[in-house]
Amino acid sequence: MKSWVYFLKLLRDLLDDMIAYFEGREQLPTPQLSIDASRQSPNQSARDDVPLDPIVLHNTDGRVSGSIDHFLKSSSEVSAHYLVGRDGAVYRMVPEHRKAWHARQENSRSIGIELEAYKGAEGMTQIQERMLTLLIADIKSRHSINRIIPHRAVVNTDCPKWIWPTDESFQAWLEDNEL
Ligand SMILES: [Zn+2]
Repeated sequence: MKSWVYFLKLLRDLLDDMIAYFEGREQLPTPQLSIDASRQSPNQSARDDVPLDPIVLHNTDGRVSGSIDHFLKSSSEVSAHYLVGRDGAVYRMVPEHRKAWHARQENSRSIGIELEAYKGAEGMTQIQERMLTLLIADIKSRHSINRIIPHRAVVNTDCPKWIWPTDESFQAWLEDNEL
């Protein structure tokens, strides 16, 4: 009886190794951060040479192409530094040393990131999340960021509810990604 248990354990370990091997083979190659800065928003202004902090996360509440068009129009009077599409494309529409207009009183020191998510396209895609974490790591390599906050922590809005419906889910995501 004991030898059977031993044999089954060996078999289970072998299966675990095989599963890990095949799961590893299915992983995509590590994506690199590539930023499209070809379109600049006119909705930006000078900021003092202050330490940049926090990062403010938003959801677009519509297609990313619509947000880009919106940020290109001066009449909209809104913008963000970065947008990350569901296809993993990263756009920079305002340089970090300039103020983007996305979070009112936090604009002077913050970096704003818009994530493409909306009703029917909730949460983040795998590549979008990967690109977001790469982008945050890139920003952190250049600035001492102490806080990453949802838009609703600053103004009365439910943004970014299509990705993080609650503050608990936002905190859990930060912890899961060691941010
Ligand atoms: Zn927002």
